[in-house]
Amino acid sequence: MRKPLVAGNWKMNGSSASNKLLLDAILAQRDSFASVDVALFPPALYIQQVQSALSGTGMYWGTQNVSQFDSGAYTGEISAAMLHDFSCQYVLIGHSERRCLYAELNLDQVFLDHIIAEKYEMSVKHGITPIICIGESPEEHSMGRTEEMVARLMDIVIAQQGVEMLSKVVLAYEPVWAIGTGKTASPEWAQDVHSFMRQRVAKHDAKIAASLRILYGGSVKGNNAAPLFAKPDIDGGLIGGGSRDADEFVKICQAAVQN
Ligand code: PEP
Repeated sequence: MRKPLVAGNWKMNGSSASNKLLLDAILAQRDSFASVDVALFPPALYIQQVQSALSGTGMYWGTQNVSQFDSGAYTGEISAAMLHDFSCQYVLIGHSERRCLYAELNLDQVFLDHIIAEKYEMSVKHGITPIICIGESPEEHSMGRTEEMVARLMDIVIAQQGVEMLSKVVLAYEPVWAIGTGKTASPEWAQDVHSFMRQRVAKHDAKIAASLRILYGGSVKGNNAAPLFAKPDIDGGLIGGGSRDADEFVKICQAAVQN
């Protein structure tokens, strides 16, 4: 059985004081979702604060991005070795908000998929589990191209690193039209896409597909998480806005508890 995972992406939000309040409030409720893996992704500056609050609690932490390079002249970047230094267990890769920033530089999206695959390889090399974000844009969604877009990145990742490496990752289906918009995908829609993703991996290796955790991300809140997480191929969530509100986030984590 796959253990559910709830990941909280704080994006560029927080301060030392507000983080402390949030962490204390979440930790006070930890017993009510102890069977769920929970990971928090603060802005990198706050990793040490989150590390010291969560060490020994059974919760995890990581950053919102990582460099595909080992070290060197890459101003502003953070390496996988540095994440390891701060005991990060997970890292987000290919978040659509990162993609949009790069897209402004007119980088080709397929080229970006290759960079994502390199970041994934670098993370695994340093013992960090990448959460690879995959999802279609609003335009691709309205053109019915969801499966094509999801398959493109998955195929590049499998071709570049081999299917075996997928035993060391988490995938997150994050339809861009649902991120931060309040337009959550219906549980049925999300389930269909998750099932498509799992089958895509199963074509290469059924065992790896069966154990692969696939999260749903996009406007998940305390009041809509349970029906999403009840679907057979949805193994938890990647939560943005809802992860900066302790009550909301705790409700989401509780909704991931399997009965
Ligand atoms: C995200 O940032 O990955 C996300 C899913 O955001 P939100 O929950 O706010 O839609």
